[in-house]
Amino acid sequence: MSGKNYRNIESALIHGGIYGDATTGAVNVPIYQTSTYEQQGIGQNKGWEYSRTGNPTRAALEALIAELEGGTNGFAFGSGMAALTAVISLFKTGDRIIISSNVYGGTFRVLDKIFKNFGITYSIEDTTTLEALDKKISSDVKAILVETPANPLLTITDLKGIADIAKRHGILSIVDNTFMTPYLQRPIESGIDIVVHSATKYLGGHSDVVAGLAVVHDKELADRLAFIQNATGGVLGPFDSFLLIRGIKTLGVRLDRHTENALKIARWLEKNDAVKKVYYPGLETAQGYEINKRQAKNGGAMISFELKENYDYKKFFSSLGLIALAESLGGVESLACHPASMTHASIPREIREKVGITDGLIRLSVGIENADDLIQDLQQAINSSEE
Ligand SMILES: *Cc1c(COP(=O)(O)O)cnc(C)c1O
Repeated sequence: MSGKNYRNIESALIHGGIYGDATTGAVNVPIYQTSTYEQQGIGQNKGWEYSRTGNPTRAALEALIAELEGGTNGFAFGSGMAALTAVISLFKTGDRIIISSNVYGGTFRVLDKIFKNFGITYSIEDTTTLEALDKKISSDVKAILVETPANPLLTITDLKGIADIAKRHGILSIVDNTFMTPYLQRPIESGIDIVVHSATKYLGGHSDVVAGLAVVHDKELADRLAFIQNATGGVLGPFDSFLLIRGIKTLGVRLDRHTENALKIARWLEKNDAVKKVYYPGLETAQGYEINKRQAKNGGAMISFELKENYDYKKFFSSLGLIALAESLGGVESLACHPASMTHASIPREIREKVGITDGLIRLSVGIENADDLIQDLQQAINSSEE
């Protein structure tokens, strides 16, 4: 099949991993919808035995995400949470994981309600202040897990700073790269050990598949994660693997439009009299703007904002027309969400308020529609919500 004659990620999105089908010349990897494989004799097979352990369509996706993130091995799971669960299963009783102060609600929940029962604990720290963080690494801490931009306040953490701290203490650094994808940010290049994705979001990109991915760039770590993936079994099916490969081919053009729209809307919100605060890492006034500029291509396509006190956020949500009120993000269609009651509802109120996830916070996943249509929808919803 075609050689790897390219240098840039736009081409890797389309030709990376395993390109096409060598047997037929098909330009797409077939959907190998099979659970098992006929063996030629005892202990003799063509490299495939059982689809929990390995499946060619899933393997093509796994090779693709490993190449895009610059890692040695990729792993595909049935959801982002299954990917995170497999990664957290690398640890054991007595180990502690530091998480950044506004991680995805489900990540907090699986640590707080599941892994704590097995003696793997967590603590929530501000990962934006590296010196203070460094002092929090006691001997039981075995990993730092961060999101940057973090969910939902789009806080920026210095990836190289985190990787350096982790290396100095001999612990693992883990980044949930869902909000950026390898098209905008490649944490492994900054020295991060493990990258995790909810591929349900931008990588799939069409709100039609739930999937998770993990990438490592260390063979020993890869062997351990492969063992966990096979032993616990939360793998992604062949059809969903195909959907993700298909989605990733257009990731570049989609994200160019997503982020162009997001910057336009963020600048518009910033100037809008009804708006109290805008969180968007692509604005020069944002926390961590310079760090984000250094480690990512741009500010991404997630925006959070708060309306002033004389606007009713509940009315705002119910007045939206083009933009749908829904969980999730990263699809071609724009979505609005209320973090306090939706994505972050599993975080206790006092922790939520402490980290700034107020009841009035609105999170926007900016889609690839016409930006002026989106702005018009936001403006009419703001008008309808004025008290
Ligand atoms: C959605 C999401 C997850 C969980 O992924 P699922 O595919 O829904 O299981 C994890 N991290 C982030 C940042 C997310 O947005």
